[in-house]
Amino acid sequence: MSDVVINHATVRERADMLAFLDLCAQRGLTEVSIWGNEIDRVGEEAALAALARHDMRVAGYNRIGPFTADGLSRAEAELARAARFGADHVFVFTGGLARRGETLAEARDRAEAVIADLLDMARAAGVTLALEPLHPMLMGDRTMIASLTHANDLCDRLGAGIGVVIDVHHLWWDDRLPAEIARAGRAGRILGFHVNDWLVPTRHLLTDRGMMGDGVIDLPGIAAMMRAAGYNGPVEVEIFSADWWARDPGEVMDTALARCARIFGAGRGA
Ligand code: ZN
Repeated sequence: MSDVVINHATVRERADMLAFLDLCAQRGLTEVSIWGNEIDRVGEEAALAALARHDMRVAGYNRIGPFTADGLSRAEAELARAARFGADHVFVFTGGLARRGETLAEARDRAEAVIADLLDMARAAGVTLALEPLHPMLMGDRTMIASLTHANDLCDRLGAGIGVVIDVHHLWWDDRLPAEIARAGRAGRILGFHVNDWLVPTRHLLTDRGMMGDGVIDLPGIAAMMRAAGYNGPVEVEIFSADWWARDPGEVMDTALARCARIFGAGRGA
């Protein structure tokens, strides 16, 4: 694990995409993860030009979803845009139970059917889909996939062109994690490794993630599982945090890079 990717969400409140790319380039980073709504803010042409100027690649493109009753009207356009940005993978965001009266089992079946349709479109567009299981407390309104077991099962059923991203915030608690990371590694489907930390107490499920090293997750332990599974891609810093959003974006990135060097042996500072 030699490289570090910063996900734009980590500094989005005080750095638009162009400022973010400048900050990454100043720190010698060569790969970033980006968001469609942030591209809209600065304009696609300017975003593509900045990436080219910095000779920077896109790891993850966020995102397709949430799935709604009227299906995937924007999906084709989003997939085409992810392809224009050369994204390594595109996140699938299912959303939670959409319809009143829908059972969890029905919602899971619906999600799988939509992902299967999406996968056909993604294959045609030449982009890879990423399933990122979210924390089970987000099942009500944000996801239908809350374990790596479920994500691996879906990938087994759906075939080529889809993989998983492992985010420590969402999966650190799971006693099946070592076995499921190994399973994903054997299948050659690990697309990314998102790092942050679980604070105690966690005051908000969406906006109180910790900086690596400030919480209770066994980060070296999970990194060892990833290496044992054959993953040698980048460590991606993704911190949704009102506390860190309030700070200077460059300072946030420098702190994150120092922690990645210390905890994961990743990046230039390692
Ligand atoms: Zn993530």
